Amino acid sequence: YRKTQPESEKMPPPSSPPLPRQNAKVQPPSPPQTIVDTSRAIQFHRVGFLGEGGFARVYEVEDNRGLRYACKVVTKSSLKTKKAKTKLYAEIKIHRALEHPNIVRFGDCFEDAENVYMTLELCQSGSLMDMLRRRRRFTEPEARFFMVQLIGACQYMHDHQVIHRDLKLGNLFLDSNMNVKVGDFGLAALIENPGERKKTICGTPNYIAPEVLFDTANGHSFEVDTWSIGVILYTLVVGRPPFQTKDVKTIYKRIRDNQYEFPPEREVSVEARGLVQQILTPVPQERPSLYDIVDHEFFTRGIVPAYIPSSARESAPDFR
Ligand code: ADP
Repeated sequence: YRKTQPESEKMPPPSSPPLPRQNAKVQPPSPPQTIVDTSRAIQFHRVGFLGEGGFARVYEVEDNRGLRYACKVVTKSSLKTKKAKTKLYAEIKIHRALEHPNIVRFGDCFEDAENVYMTLELCQSGSLMDMLRRRRRFTEPEARFFMVQLIGACQYMHDHQVIHRDLKLGNLFLDSNMNVKVGDFGLAALIENPGERKKTICGTPNYIAPEVLFDTANGHSFEVDTWSIGVILYTLVVGRPPFQTKDVKTIYKRIRDNQYEFPPEREVSVEARGLVQQILTPVPQERPSLYDIVDHEFFTRGIVPAYIPSSARESAPDFR
């Protein structure tokens, strides 16, 4: 699924949930082979294509010192509305202020006549979603490793008043040492006043917290990331998201009814099940804090590997 909707678009009420937007846009022209940051007199050579999302195309680039980055390219033709500009500026403002070992490092931001460019830390091992597709599911020690890094990044974001709002396997990138790097701040929100609640319905259907969909009067806050962390944990150990079905409407109904189960054919520990169940609590204030989560028996009673070997890209490592 794509993101349901951009941040500020009006949404239908939750009884008729938003459908993923069709991407009908025509392919924009490729950015130049040599991308120049004129203000800092730096050239980046485009060496490969990494992927594309709702708004941007991402290329691998190399600077004249031979250092490689990911370069996110947004065409100016897609920034004609004030809304689109505001959204991109918000992403840049939030992302560039964050510095954490498990958050994709923001390099620079510049533009030419056609595009806005953002250079980012290159994550050479793709996303956890790509890896899950190859692996089908992860072992619990691997899940603990990835979760500890994700929760550390999330704690840092929340300490800096940032809600990510789109945590999902496809936005958790991996560097060459298999460390998690949280990326894509396109839906992130900055909480500027204590107690402030966000009202915009956004996120990705499988990972979206119930209060985002069904408590639009009260709005939502940091706990939506905690919910997504619960969905991520389930997905890592089971191999697919808990509320997944063919149509988005039914996904939302399942989220509303807290309807998910652990498939009997999967051997998931009682600790993992218990932790998922605690996190996927419908009432946001009743969800455990990020501290409570890492203090749960799932983490304290099991192996947390010091690192994940690169062989894990293809097959399950043995941590015994
Ligand atoms: P959007 O905000 O448009 O959804 P994303 O930030 O999700 O764009 O990036 C789109 C794709 O580009 C990702 O799915 C991934 O394949 C690739 N990508 C993004 N950032 C990086 C990065 N830092 N390193 C490597 N690949 C990346």
